[in-house]
Amino acid sequence: MKRKQQRELVELTEQMINNVPQLPNQDQPPINADIALPDLPTLPPVDGASLPPLPMPGMAVPQKEANCLECAAKFTIKDLRLTKVKCPVCDAVVQL
Ligand SMILES: [Zn+2]
Repeated sequence: MKRKQQRELVELTEQMINNVPQLPNQDQPPINADIALPDLPTLPPVDGASLPPLPMPGMAVPQKEANCLECAAKFTIKDLRLTKVKCPVCDAVVQL
């Protein structure tokens, strides 16, 4: 009984030894490959100083000028989407 158990143990151990090392050698890359990858240090440094302070300098003052035909007043419209606006002087509707 004891010899048979030992022989089975030896066979099991031999099977494990023969089977286990084949998996990492075939499917997995060597462990050192991940450590030696030079991709991470090549990232450009984050430099916010080179960026302009405003996203679009041309859009800093979104306004245009309107002339009232009734009283000849000039005033500034800050909402460029408007197509008509009331004159702040005489309340006449000014087409933009
Ligand atoms: Zn007016």
